[in-house]
Amino acid sequence: MMDDPGPLGRFGRFGGRYVPEALIPACEALEEGFRDAWADATFRATLQQTLELYAGRPTPVTPALRLSAELGVTVLLKREDLAHTGSHKINNVLGQALLARRMGKRHLLAETGAGQHGVATATAAALFGMRATVFMGERDMERQELNVFRMRLLGAEVVPVTSGSRTLKDACSEALRAWVTEVADAHYCIGSVMGPHPYPWMVREFQRVVGEEARAQCAGLLPAAQPDVVVACVGGGSNAAGTFAGFVDTTARLVGVEAAGGAAITDGAPGVLHGFQSQVLQDEAGQVREAHSISAGLDYPGIGPEHAHLADIGRAEYVTATDEEVLAAVERLARAEGILPALESSHALAWVLRAAGTPALPTGSTVLVTLSGRGDKDAEQLAARR
Ligand SMILES: *Cc1c(COP(=O)(O)O)cnc(C)c1O
Repeated sequence: MMDDPGPLGRFGRFGGRYVPEALIPACEALEEGFRDAWADATFRATLQQTLELYAGRPTPVTPALRLSAELGVTVLLKREDLAHTGSHKINNVLGQALLARRMGKRHLLAETGAGQHGVATATAAALFGMRATVFMGERDMERQELNVFRMRLLGAEVVPVTSGSRTLKDACSEALRAWVTEVADAHYCIGSVMGPHPYPWMVREFQRVVGEEARAQCAGLLPAAQPDVVVACVGGGSNAAGTFAGFVDTTARLVGVEAAGGAAITDGAPGVLHGFQSQVLQDEAGQVREAHSISAGLDYPGIGPEHAHLADIGRAEYVTATDEEVLAAVERLARAEGILPALESSHALAWVLRAAGTPALPTGSTVLVTLSGRGDKDAEQLAARR
């Protein structure tokens, strides 16, 4: 489970590579480049060193002592909020940027929702002396002004996307279109476990470090060595996939939490979006339905194909959290632990708050929550809500 999906990039009935003819060779070259790099000890060592010396890995696992006492459940937090640029996105981006450089590319293209992936891409481009162009929905640019400014400060070009709902889904379409016109020199750096093969697999492998670190850290913190439940928020699903990869071979229950307004597993149906087959929000006519969430990072109508598969086979469960529950979770963690979580990450916390003391998360059990990012970027939005 959670291993190499093979040359077709299938996870059960999901995944694959549904792209315009012009992108097939680029996807094939990327797959070959990744297979080659991932089998190369020197590439792995360079990535590992960059993650340690530049991005601040390993991030700690913090026991949330006061929250645990309040809930009657032992809560451990995997602190991706402490990684450079403030979220787990940097793990994947440093991997893809190093791979792009190895493949002789000098230009990184990226889509972004909340702006965290755009900031991470702009950061990696600066670090490695590459160009970065980030596509961002106009509406998200308004919601996440600070991140737009950060990207530009880092030297990236930010391109407003004015089509459709002017959010993440439209930014993805635009970035794919841009890649078609510049395949020779550009690498499309996708920010989650989605897109055509090899992206869902490759991004999960670059995020695996989250789960592998957490697995070893839990062994040192918990008498049972592993938590009863592992929970992470799911937009495209990269922080969850990286986390789950570290625990999929244990008996831990795996729980992914989607935004109630963007619940592709709960409310979606099989469909193709942005180059892959997965569960997708659609209307009765099969048109992609827009997602609505307080967090721009979870405003995506699809989900990574491997999550759709893990749900299919029952290895992971997918639940939802509402905007109200998420806002309450932000304050609860801030007050109990002095940690301001990202709105996205707060979906995972919201589930813990709701489930604690119920059969879903019984009193006395242990739960690892991946805190995918820090909440500074959301401060303005939170202030407006009060
Ligand atoms: C982008 C983002 C997410 C959602 O992306 P996944 O691929 O589902 O992990 C979650 N949390 C934070 C902090 C993000 O920046």
